[in-house]
Amino acid sequence: MVEKETRNFSNEITEDFMHQVEIAIIGGGLSGLVAAYLLAKSGRDVLLVEKKSYPFHRVCGEYISNEVSAFLVEEGLFPTALGPSTLTRFRLSSINGRVAEMPLDLGGFGISRFGFDHFLYEKCKAMGVNFLLNTQVSDVVEPKESLFELSLDTGSTVTASFVLGAFGKRSKIDKALKRPFFAKRSPFIGVKYHVRTLHEPDMVALHNFEGGYCGINKVEDDIFNICYLANRHLLKKHGSIAAMETEALFKNPQLAKLFNESEFLWEKPEVINEINFCTKKPVENNILMLGDAAGMITPLCGNGMAIAIHTGKLAAEAILAHNSLKKIQTAYASSWESYFEKRLYIGRMVQRLFGSAAQSDFAVGLVNQFPYLARQIMRRTHGEKIN
Ligand SMILES: Cc1cc2nc3c(=O)[nH]c(=O)nc-3n(C[C@H](O)[C@H](O)[C@H](O)COP(=O)(O)OP(=O)(O)OC[C@H]3O[C@@H](n4cnc5c(N)ncnc54)[C@H](O)[C@@H]3O)c2cc1C
Repeated sequence: MVEKETRNFSNEITEDFMHQVEIAIIGGGLSGLVAAYLLAKSGRDVLLVEKKSYPFHRVCGEYISNEVSAFLVEEGLFPTALGPSTLTRFRLSSINGRVAEMPLDLGGFGISRFGFDHFLYEKCKAMGVNFLLNTQVSDVVEPKESLFELSLDTGSTVTASFVLGAFGKRSKIDKALKRPFFAKRSPFIGVKYHVRTLHEPDMVALHNFEGGYCGINKVEDDIFNICYLANRHLLKKHGSIAAMETEALFKNPQLAKLFNESEFLWEKPEVINEINFCTKKPVENNILMLGDAAGMITPLCGNGMAIAIHTGKLAAEAILAHNSLKKIQTAYASSWESYFEKRLYIGRMVQRLFGSAAQSDFAVGLVNQFPYLARQIMRRTHGEKIN
């Protein structure tokens, strides 16, 4: 463990400070925040560097699988005070609007990332995690004399004994580290809205359209999340988000009705591009990769957030159980592979049933005629409940 300097840290430290920390976490989404919280709770010296400042919106469907609920409750991290929705049922529609329904095997809850990430950030601060916000890590040099060196976009440097990469699906760091997936262009964009609408509060619906799929579910208060993944060629073809929605999404009558009957709460949607589901590795350049940085499950499975939370827990456990970097890496990589490798693969396979007329019709038929089989497939993208 790195010897701690005597310093009078407020939780948000100033950038001109030359930091030497034991554990540096790059990125403060769910994976980074959970790892930070658990490590600080065990008395470890943690600095989390986040390029944005809480609270903020992210493109995400905001449905969290119950596989992590008991763990969150036990750690005092379940956002009860924010009033999350309870989600128990699933509806699927094909491009022509044919519908099938089934119960969600584990179910989940709906909560905005604006609220949930901020809630976890406050919990981390109270636990003693130090934060550098509005700060981007631009490079990480692997250990020289046992310390990593992180370059910040502010010109400062941080040295650390351990680095956790919790920087999401695609980051400047991936380029700096020359991760192989970075060179591949991704075909997908993501679009998200918050709306008020008439929709069953316990239902997660997933509606297909040619070139993508769109989810809707309730989050806190009386707000619903509408979030879709679309092939970027659609945007190119139609020229704008609004035109793409009218021309492509609304061909599914379920989506036309949903969009036309909802009150949109923001002036414009949150949009991201370059979403890809390439395989990555849980340890690269001696950095433990968490959440989407280790590999992203396709959003239709609805458990990227649960996986992110679970990887934060596994990374913290590996660090707390071992002293040497090598042993930590081996422990983390082997638990990551056993929990997630197959799920991510099945997620990629299931995604093939979405976003085209014939396949989405087949998926709806499968749920209607072979509900047992559909439930088995759903189960395989889900993990066991964690404590
Ligand atoms: C369209 C879409 C819909 C989805 N819907 C769902 C859903 O309904 N349910 C579900 O469970 N999952 C869903 N997901 C997946 C889920 O959003 C992710 O799996 C989850 O957010 C991953 O968490 P994370 O901690 O790995 O990364 P993130 O939550 O992405 O956090 C990464 C953080 O790192 C920061 N960062 C990046 N680079 C740097 C840097 N260089 N320096 C400092 N900070 C940096 C970013 O600002 C960000 O805050 C969806 C994803 C998409 C794209």
